[in-house]
Amino acid sequence: MIRIQNLDMTYRSAEVEHHAVRGLSLEIERGQFYTLLGPSGCGKTTTLRCVAGLEKPDQGEIDVGEDRVYSSSPPIWTDPFNRDIGMVFQSYAIWPHMTVFDNVAFPLRQMKPRPPRTEIRDRIMRILALVKLDELADRPSPFLSGGQQQRLALARALVREPSVLLLDEPLSNLDAKLRDEMRAELRDLVKRLNLTTLFVTHEQIEALTMSDRIGVMNDGVIVQEGTPVEIYGKPAHPFVADFIGKTNFFKGQVSNAQSDGDGAGLIQVQTPIGPLQTKSAENFNAGDEVVVVIRPESVLLDATSQPGPNVITGTVDNIAFLGNLTDCEVRLDGQLVRVQLVPPVSIRTGEQVTLSLPAENCIAMRG
Ligand code: ADP
Ligand code: MG
Repeated sequence: MIRIQNLDMTYRSAEVEHHAVRGLSLEIERGQFYTLLGPSGCGKTTTLRCVAGLEKPDQGEIDVGEDRVYSSSPPIWTDPFNRDIGMVFQSYAIWPHMTVFDNVAFPLRQMKPRPPRTEIRDRIMRILALVKLDELADRPSPFLSGGQQQRLALARALVREPSVLLLDEPLSNLDAKLRDEMRAELRDLVKRLNLTTLFVTHEQIEALTMSDRIGVMNDGVIVQEGTPVEIYGKPAHPFVADFIGKTNFFKGQVSNAQSDGDGAGLIQVQTPIGPLQTKSAENFNAGDEVVVVIRPESVLLDATSQPGPNVITGTVDNIAFLGNLTDCEVRLDGQLVRVQLVPPVSIRTGEQVTLSLPAENCIAMRG
C-alpha cells in the first residue's frame, strides 16, 4: 500500500525556484498497479523520488505499507535504505564495473546484519531466474542488451523482496518491438509477486495497457484518476482528452441544459460547426462556456445520414493510410475534424462528405 497526502515540493537553487509537485494525493491498494501518466516535466520523477526518500518534500505525508516514512508535521523521516521499496530508475543506473551477479548482490551486501554468503547467493540466483538472467550471472554488465539491462535493474530492485516497487519510465530506453513485449512481461511479473507498483510514464499506451488505475498528471497535480477505460472513455478534463490520444474539440456555449425527454440527460451546445447534442461531464447551465470532445474513432462517415443535429457536411482535407486504420481530416467551417476509419476507405481528398457525431460519444466539459 502507498498513500501520498498533499505532497508539495519546490526545487530551490541559487538561480531558480521550481514548484514541481503541488499538493498531490493518491492511494494505491496492496497489489495494485498504479500509473502516473503525464508529459515531460509535470513532476512524475519528483513524486517517485519523494516516495523513495531521494528528495525531501516541503509538505505532506507519505505512507509505505504500515509505515509513515515522511511527514512534515510532526516531522518524520525514514532514510531511503530503510523504506520497504525497490526502485528502477529511468537510466537503470547499473554499475558498469560489476558483473550481473554483483549488481544484484549490492543491496543485500549493504544489509545490516548482512545475510550469510550462501543465502545471498541463493537469493540472487532466484531473482535472476525470475527475470531470466540466471545464465548471464557472471557477465560484465556492459555486455548486456537494452532489454537485459532493464531486467537486471528490475532484479536489483526486487532482491530485497520489497512490498512496493517504483518504476520510472523503465521501458523508454528499449526499441519499439522489445518495449511491446516487456509491457506484458513486466506487468505479469509484478502481478505474480503481488507487488504494489507505482509506475511512471509519458506513454499513454503503456498506461492504458498495464495499469489497474491511472492518475493523469499535469503541472504537479493529478487532474484525473480512474481505470484505463474511464480515463480513455470519459475524460473529465480537456487536458486528459487531449493527452490520451488525438481528440476533436469544439468550443461552444450551452444553449439548453434541460433533458428533452428523448435525449435522457443530453445537453445542447452551440459550436462553430453548428448545434451539437452531447453528454456532459458535469452539470451545466444555459450560457456556460464548454468544450465538446469526441474521439476520432467515434466520428462516423456516412453518406446516408439525414441532415440534423450532429450531422455535418465537410470537405476531405487529408488522408493518411496507417495500415490497420486510415486517419482522415475533414474541413468544416474552418475547423478540422479528425476521423479514424477502418480500411478499405474509398473517399478522396477534396471530396464532400457527411459526418455524424453520435451524441452518446460527445462529452461536454469545462474548457
Ligand atoms: P517528469 O519526471 O514528469 O518529467 P520531473 O519530476 O523530473 O518531471 O521535473 C519536474 C519539474 O521540476 C521540471 O520542470 C524540472 O525541470 C524541475 N526539476 C527537476 N529536477 C530539478 C532539480 N534538481 N532542480 C531544479 N528543478 C528541477
Ligand atoms: Mg521523469
